[in-house]
Amino acid sequence: MVNDDWKTPHLWRKTAAQRKTAPRLAGDLKTDVLVVGGGFTGMAAALGARDSGANVIMLEGNEIGSASSGRNNGLVISHHSKASPSEFEAVYGRTVGGRYNCMVADAAGVAFGLMQRFGIDAHQVQNGWIQPAHTDTTLKRARQFYEEWQAFGAAVSWLDRDAVSTRIGSPYLGGWMVENSGHINPFALTIGLAHALEQEGATIFENTRALRIEKTDAGWRVHSEAGSVTADEVVLATNALSGDLWPGLKRTLIPFRVFQAATEPLSEEVRAQILIGNPAVSDMRNDLRYFHYDRDYRLVSGATHTLWHNEADRGRAKVERLLRKAFPALRTPLTVQEYWHGTFAIVPDRRPRLYRLAPGLVFGGVYSGRGVALSLSLGQEIGRWVAGRRMDGDMPLPVTDMQPIRFHGITAGLANRMHPVHRLLDRGK
Ligand SMILES: Cc1cc2nc3c(=O)[nH]c(=O)nc-3n(C[C@H](O)[C@H](O)[C@H](O)COP(=O)(O)OP(=O)(O)OC[C@H]3O[C@@H](n4cnc5c(N)ncnc54)[C@H](O)[C@@H]3O)c2cc1C
Repeated sequence: MVNDDWKTPHLWRKTAAQRKTAPRLAGDLKTDVLVVGGGFTGMAAALGARDSGANVIMLEGNEIGSASSGRNNGLVISHHSKASPSEFEAVYGRTVGGRYNCMVADAAGVAFGLMQRFGIDAHQVQNGWIQPAHTDTTLKRARQFYEEWQAFGAAVSWLDRDAVSTRIGSPYLGGWMVENSGHINPFALTIGLAHALEQEGATIFENTRALRIEKTDAGWRVHSEAGSVTADEVVLATNALSGDLWPGLKRTLIPFRVFQAATEPLSEEVRAQILIGNPAVSDMRNDLRYFHYDRDYRLVSGATHTLWHNEADRGRAKVERLLRKAFPALRTPLTVQEYWHGTFAIVPDRRPRLYRLAPGLVFGGVYSGRGVALSLSLGQEIGRWVAGRRMDGDMPLPVTDMQPIRFHGITAGLANRMHPVHRLLDRGK
């Protein structure tokens, strides 16, 4: 699939340090573990394999961080996408479900820990993530999340109506907070992780698209335009951009395109009333509202496309309206300075996937919009797994065959056009 977001300017790239792009693959190489895809999942998998003693090569079709890992909103969240811990246990059973819940509870801590381990400046702020509720129904659900995670032993707190509304600077009915979470400049993190991988001895090739996979006597041979890598184990970490590299893979996920925006830096006076204490916030609407400050106190937000928001002017106007509506303190004229797109992979049940495509060939990822923290944990687990440190039964998710989405074309089309329905649902109690 063509990544047409590729190289378009965006806030995170503009405000991150630069990195010299790695070379393209030329010639034929051999390695223990080959990772295809240089997003968070792929880089964490490469790190997990390298930490386990494997020789690792990574092929990235564009540049490291050019897809969703580098251009997302930057919320680092230790919580499931839409589900509670007990709901995961009900689906996966106590052992795998419990293991998965542990991974999610620790995910933000693991992400910030990686930044610390490698001295990465990703403009990280670990001041907690708040999920406020805007209706009675979502308030009940927020309370359930809070109580379940508290019983699980996670560091969470409850914020009543006044506390949450004052803290965010926007009227909500109440909400809960996960202490170990926060926000980052995600592109800066991708740059930092790429440096870290190289420092740890992994080899990265950029602008090197994996075009074909072939089973040989020596292992899996993955071909690019000007070379190939033969590996014992191959990890596909290609997320929403999984094209035709492996037959049927792209029909197991739906690429979902959203836009992101950032205001000009806000004045101290306004900041005294909005996002006090610099937390990360995303609410419980279907047409999600999410906010945090960047390093320079721009308010970073985003929204779901309707057909017409593909045009930047309309998208900016929507975000301006949305922010004014959300934050009474933003009465003065507001300029949305930055606007960009990104595409992530979703699945209807919102549960990440671990596929064994064939012996020695796996796919992992798909976080349905909640992947920054989780990809860094799951990715490392995938790396340890393919390097022989984990068995299938040790993994925090069931290892399955591909799970194709029924009526994929129609479902994908509908998923990207649900915005008006979500807006209607959000008005309900
Ligand atoms: C706009 C936006 C906002 C988001 N906001 C948040 C947020 O605030 N918090 C949160 O938790 N999650 C958020 N997400 C989701 C999160 O960014 C993703 O879940 C996560 O980054 C996925 O990482 P990944 O490595 O699996 O995939 P990606 O980052 O998409 O990486 C996949 C990589 O594979 C490469 N690739 C694909 N095919 C090939 C091939 N054949 N050969 C070589 N390379 C290939 C691609 O070029 C790409 O670099 C957001 C996503 C977007 C798009």
